[in-house]
Amino acid sequence: MKYQGSCHCGAIAFDLDGDAGKVDEAIDCNCSMCRRKGALLAAFPREALTLTTPETEMGTYTFNKHHIQHHFCPKCGVAPFSEAENPKTGARMMMVNLRCLPEVDLSAVKVTHFDGASY
Ligand SMILES: [Zn+2]
Repeated sequence: MKYQGSCHCGAIAFDLDGDAGKVDEAIDCNCSMCRRKGALLAAFPREALTLTTPETEMGTYTFNKHHIQHHFCPKCGVAPFSEAENPKTGARMMMVNLRCLPEVDLSAVKVTHFDGASY
C-alpha cells in the first residue's frame, strides 16, 4: 500500500511504499534528538520514499557523528524523516516519522523503546 506523508504545512511531501517496511511498528528513541522531537520512527529503504516536493524545501540538521541527516521543514518545524547509511550494508535508509503519515492509525502502532542515548 502507498502512503502519503508530509510536514504540517505541506512544503515537504512524499509517497511511501508501505510494503517496503512496516507502518505498524515503530521505534521510540531516547537520544538527545528523538526525545525532544517525539517521533515514532520506522525504517524503510531509501527507494521506498519518493519526494513530491523540491528537495530545496528541506532543512537538514546533523549532530554527534553527523552521519544521519535529520530533515525538517524550515516553515512549520515538523521533521518527517531522517536519512542515513546502514552501517552494515552501506544501503541508504530512511527513518520515517509515522506521525507524519495521516493514514496510519497511531493507536495500533506497536512501539519499541530504543536506548539511543547509550550509543
Ligand atoms: Zn512544513
